[in-house]
Amino acid sequence: MLLSITTTHRPASDLGYLLHKHPDKFQSFDLSFGRVHAYYPEAGDDRCTACLLLDVDAVGLVRGRSPDQDFLLAQYVNDRPYVASSFLSVAVAQVFGSALQGKCKDRPELAAAPIPLEARLDVLPVRGGEAFLRAVFEPLGYAVEATRHPLDEHFPEWGESPYFSVAVRHTVTLSELLTHLYVLVPVFDARKHYYVGDDELEKLLAKGAGWLTRHPAKDEIARRYLGNRPSLVRQALGRLVDEEEAGEDESPEKQQAEERLEKPTRLNDQRLGAVVAALRGSGARRVLDLGCGEGKLLRELLKDRQFEEILGLDVSVRSLEIASRRLKMERLPDAQAKRLKLLHGSLTYRDKRLEGFDAAAVVEVIEHLDPPRLRAFERVLFECARPGTVVLTTPNREFNVTWEALPAGQFRHADHRFEWTRREFQDWAAGVAARHGYAVRFLPVGPEHPEHGPPTQMGVFDLAQSR
Ligand code: SAH
Repeated sequence: MLLSITTTHRPASDLGYLLHKHPDKFQSFDLSFGRVHAYYPEAGDDRCTACLLLDVDAVGLVRGRSPDQDFLLAQYVNDRPYVASSFLSVAVAQVFGSALQGKCKDRPELAAAPIPLEARLDVLPVRGGEAFLRAVFEPLGYAVEATRHPLDEHFPEWGESPYFSVAVRHTVTLSELLTHLYVLVPVFDARKHYYVGDDELEKLLAKGAGWLTRHPAKDEIARRYLGNRPSLVRQALGRLVDEEEAGEDESPEKQQAEERLEKPTRLNDQRLGAVVAALRGSGARRVLDLGCGEGKLLRELLKDRQFEEILGLDVSVRSLEIASRRLKMERLPDAQAKRLKLLHGSLTYRDKRLEGFDAAAVVEVIEHLDPPRLRAFERVLFECARPGTVVLTTPNREFNVTWEALPAGQFRHADHRFEWTRREFQDWAAGVAARHGYAVRFLPVGPEHPEHGPPTQMGVFDLAQSR
């Protein structure tokens, strides 16, 4: 198992400072799973390469453990010693720990500077093949070179193996490169060798800060990194979305843009009024506010005694905290407090806590979901939670042209993944209704433009059997 890191930054031997390892030395370290060697095969002014060679003790690793489902010999005959895997991440963290954190006492400016770097991995098992390899590294700006190895060079007819030699190149800080490798190398491996505990989640979130939230393959990365433990994956995805939102907070202008845009029409009030009216009209007593955000609808619902039980759910802990503060939940009189509950969760994962309600509101939420996640959302709400009525709103994209403040082709909010025309929304909603036994009707919200329609569109779904 070999990781080589090369730079052509001049003088290239500065790499020694960054890694805190002297280019003239060959150093070895004992880790729990074997030995690791750090050395430099080349260290000139123009080019410098540092290597991290893992010598995994496959026998020592299983000593003292009871043999599990694997056949006994597999513990001794396996590819662990040869392929890069999560061991490599552990070794990077231990041997290049300061570099991973971007610390360099002698040359702090160098640690902060993006420099041309190449990392080579010999040999990496890649579940998902070259396409997945590219889908993981390319969005981060890396050029990827991958060579797949045959199962046996002497017997080409045996076909290809899952093993690749991989090189990734980019101009980044060394800390960024090491962080990406730390998180991503284990993602390619088919089997995680150790128990995936809760601290793995913390590691992923800490190391993924600032780049994983925006990565288009973040769901798959989190799933694989966390060894497919659904509860951890769910938490991770929830918190990755949170971070994204926290990031948005940094630019309040961006956040307020949608409100400014919509202000003259007081669209928000009209929308809330329309949603409350539809919920009231359905006769619902127990209601959900899914993607409740900072709790504007919850406040309206609390005012109406018809709603005996109100549950707000959001993926963003920060929004829930704001909602709780704004609704003064800590100081609500008992009778009120009993009616209202806030839950942290994601609408793209089945959640038993959402079952058994009469109605659900989903106000300006679906456009925040990635289109490939809409199917999951649909099943979570209409198949699993299955309230009698669903009141759902989303922007009508056609109306955007009437807003001079909104540049053509732009969405109303930076976090919107899409905005639909009336046609697109109605087609989607009719499909959902048909698939799950609901009837749907559509209502305009806000002042209707004769040609472009209303600013907000609303669909009210009723469960056919319950009528
Ligand atoms: N319904 C509120 C907030 C709309 S903004 C209102 O009308 O004011 C969209 C909200 O959806 C945000 O609070 C966001 O955190 C939430 N959201 C986005 N993706 C979600 C998901 N997968 N599960 C639950 N909530 C989500």
